[in-house]
Amino acid sequence: MSPRFISNPPAKLPKMLRHEMELPQYIVIGHDLVSTIVERLKSNHAFRKILLITSKTPYRAYGSKVVEYAGSSLDFEVFYVDEAVEGFGKLVEHTRRSDAVVGIGGGKVLDVSKALAEAGERPFFSVPTVASHDGIASPMTSFRRNGRAYSRKSVMPLEIYADMEVISMAPRRYLLSGCGDLVAKHSAVRDWWLAHVEKGEYYGRYAAHLANLSASVIMKSAKHIVNDWQEGVRTVVEALISAGVAMGVAGSSRPCSGSEHLIAHALETMMEKPALHGERCGVATIFTSKLHKSNWEKVRNSLKTIGAPHTLNQIGVDADLFVEAVKKAPDLRKERYTILHKTPLNSRQIYDALQETMLV
Ligand SMILES: [Zn+2]
Repeated sequence: MSPRFISNPPAKLPKMLRHEMELPQYIVIGHDLVSTIVERLKSNHAFRKILLITSKTPYRAYGSKVVEYAGSSLDFEVFYVDEAVEGFGKLVEHTRRSDAVVGIGGGKVLDVSKALAEAGERPFFSVPTVASHDGIASPMTSFRRNGRAYSRKSVMPLEIYADMEVISMAPRRYLLSGCGDLVAKHSAVRDWWLAHVEKGEYYGRYAAHLANLSASVIMKSAKHIVNDWQEGVRTVVEALISAGVAMGVAGSSRPCSGSEHLIAHALETMMEKPALHGERCGVATIFTSKLHKSNWEKVRNSLKTIGAPHTLNQIGVDADLFVEAVKKAPDLRKERYTILHKTPLNSRQIYDALQETMLV
């Protein structure tokens, strides 16, 4: 007889939904990664022709080092990010003639390179020069083209190279934005759970825990991040990569993007010069955590301790604009059920919540 704790499976198991996980194959976090990048491209992959997307500033500082180090061993075709956005269609042809797409730069560079790699069906190598959001390691891409904002699932980076030397030298604001994008997971996983309970949506416990962990490590380490910059940068980068992996495991951006991201996106569409993605997400998370009746104080205090924006004023938004954004947010993604879809708020309720959470 089988021991009591080993039970036989039921005679007929329910059919499981097909679920695909896309994960990065190789991730390096460290210093002096130029030679590692070049060696991996030419020796491990036997690549020859590389399409490199970058922006002028980091290119001078980092992309040029990669090209110089490679010398004639790799054939780089370099495009700046704005050229890549403008001539996207033409660049897809260039991508097809290359072995791989390498993106060296900030969020926009990585987003555009990712979309190109997908369209041209080539592997994508992510080399972030700032740690401002979780796109450095996720399959999600989001950028503006012809006045429209695109945000959707694309390809997961095959390899990620986070060179601490260049990321630590970037203006502090970028890393603080990364912290905002990380605390956002606190609210996103709650929205996901809500959609599971009320709408029967697939919910991956492991991916949810992983995403939640990347928020809680920032909230628990807020003081540490301020006091030990070097170590703090590494913690944030690792948490951002981990959040990207959570999306890969879930097969969607669900664990990392909920009501707070919808508000942040709504603000983006309504503003000429919106604050950074993570800055908007962090502030919106204080608000949506309050709606979820979870610990919004902890979210706010950690952002404040780190020095990241934690009021509307700090992201250049007034109360009226925020009210409009909250009302517009659920319509941006009707299929993504969140606390904003469950309980639509009127202007008075939004103002009250703003005051209670000290956002105004
Ligand atoms: Zn985000």
